[in-house]
Amino acid sequence: MAEPTRPLPKAQEHDTGAFWEATKNHELRYQRCDDCEAIVFYPRRHCTSCLGSRLTWHTSKGEGTLYTYSVVRQSYHPFFRARAPYAVAWIDLDEGPRILSNIVGIEDPTKELSIGQRLRVEWEDHEELAVPLFRPI
Ligand SMILES: [Zn+2]
Repeated sequence: MAEPTRPLPKAQEHDTGAFWEATKNHELRYQRCDDCEAIVFYPRRHCTSCLGSRLTWHTSKGEGTLYTYSVVRQSYHPFFRARAPYAVAWIDLDEGPRILSNIVGIEDPTKELSIGQRLRVEWEDHEELAVPLFRPI
């Protein structure tokens, strides 16, 4: 039987396609409104602050802090079941976007994570995109 694989997003969606295209080059991109300078993430067609449509793409350095997290101890999906316990976390990137991801590179997420901890993006490559995961610095 084949090794279970991570469920992946559709790389060709209208609003998020450019984001996933950039991940192939390990670029973590986000949008900022040209009118009110609000950070817009996840990618959308309109600014979530002023509803303007002049959004410009920017690239994050890929570093940030742990805003909050939860430790998953049980999963019914075969891919994730083999990884439990694992952390699902909100990460505040230094440029402003808050991204949901997994923390990797730790043995025990119940003991090795703390709010405010510094993290850096790490890429998991797939055929059509790369998944941004985060590792403690
Ligand atoms: Zn705006």
